[in-house]
Amino acid sequence: MKRIAVIGGGAAGYMAAITAKKNDPKATVVILEKTDKILSKVKISGGGRCNVTNACFSISDLCKNYPRGGKELKKSFCHFYTKDTIEWFKNRGVELHTEKDNRMFPISNQSQTIIDCLQSEIKRLGVRLSLKSMVSKITIENDDFTIMVNKESLSFNKLIIACGGTPKISGLKWLQELGYVVIDPIPSLFTFNMPTESIKELMGIVAPNTSVKIQGSKQKQNGPLLITHWGMSGPAILKTSAFEARTLANLNYQFKVQVNWSNLSETDYLEKIEDQKNKKIVNNPFDLPNRLWLFLLKKVEINMETTWSQLGKKNKNRLLNVLMNDVYEVSGKTTFKEEFVTCGGVSLSNIDMQTMESKLHTGIYFAGEILDIDGVTGGFNFQAAWTTGFLAGKNSAS
Ligand SMILES: Cc1cc2nc3c(=O)[nH]c(=O)nc-3n(C[C@H](O)[C@H](O)[C@H](O)COP(=O)(O)OP(=O)(O)OC[C@H]3O[C@@H](n4cnc5c(N)ncnc54)[C@H](O)[C@@H]3O)c2cc1C
Repeated sequence: MKRIAVIGGGAAGYMAAITAKKNDPKATVVILEKTDKILSKVKISGGGRCNVTNACFSISDLCKNYPRGGKELKKSFCHFYTKDTIEWFKNRGVELHTEKDNRMFPISNQSQTIIDCLQSEIKRLGVRLSLKSMVSKITIENDDFTIMVNKESLSFNKLIIACGGTPKISGLKWLQELGYVVIDPIPSLFTFNMPTESIKELMGIVAPNTSVKIQGSKQKQNGPLLITHWGMSGPAILKTSAFEARTLANLNYQFKVQVNWSNLSETDYLEKIEDQKNKKIVNNPFDLPNRLWLFLLKKVEINMETTWSQLGKKNKNRLLNVLMNDVYEVSGKTTFKEEFVTCGGVSLSNIDMQTMESKLHTGIYFAGEILDIDGVTGGFNFQAAWTTGFLAGKNSAS
């Protein structure tokens, strides 16, 4: 009889354990969780509502939301993706609803609904749960795995490693000892601190459609930008933090960010400006909050009472420059409270992404954030956990 150990009682571990037991009801499946709590990230996720997935139904579009692992995940999503997640929860009595920005939540808007669903599923199927069980070492003997759980040695013939993201590489030493390549873990999804910038006076203001890039980089991220009392946040900033995570870590989070406030080209800005003629500059023709518009005018020292037709070439260029390439100095980061993830982890070069089985050891599978996979905000991180958990569970039981 098969003995399957799932290391980690998070989203990926639960999905893996449930799928393994469903596929091989005779197998002994045990979740080993080092703390005394299960699914603790699910509980706090999405501001307590759990953003389960994203209503993105094209696999190639879905993959674009993963700064690390997108290309490789394509192979995994072919087996289980957004539609399957929605169906999976629906079949277990949990309906999801979609918000305007495509994020999907349980209709209860309570992360507890997801926890209750996963918890009742392991009870119904007979998956064992062992809390306060920390795995610290794996020894491989023939086809069997001996794992050190606290101070006890336990034997299994399949292992699913789903122990989540780790802030320090030392946390994954036990996997490096087995030969796994671990990509240095660093944070992703954070907001930018701007201690010296006066734009913080506008805290709470959102520019709805910006384009943001790190000075010197070619990559641009679009979306709303939120001004906070410590600097900048919002989707455009969070996406930049994710796609540039490695670069920003190398810069020790000291860099300059460049904002195009309405995400328009020079021609489009000029077209809008031409339309204004004798209107006063104080009336902002762009899709920008008025307080922000006044701040920008003050920044380039343009008199608000001037009309657009009175605006000379020099001032027009200064205005265009602040609208298109407004530069702010960033010094440090703040973790986004709604969602943060680890960039880095076990290298995907060690994994068969069709099955989630290790390429180094037959019978060992990986799932979730332990892998060098991370997504932007919007439900993509859980989707990666459900997908890789499902595949690891299914294939370990076959
Ligand atoms: C505040 C916050 C909000 C978030 N909100 C969202 C959201 O709304 N939508 C979204 O898509 N993503 C969200 N995320 C990201 C998402 O929560 C994670 O990507 C996801 O939980 C990863 O699941 P996992 O099972 O791989 O890891 P985890 O959830 O981290 O679970 C791993 C488990 O393994 C255990 N463990 C670790 N080491 C060992 C060991 N050696 N032995 C035994 N057990 C071990 C840990 O205690 C933990 O319980 C959020 C993250 C945070 C921090």
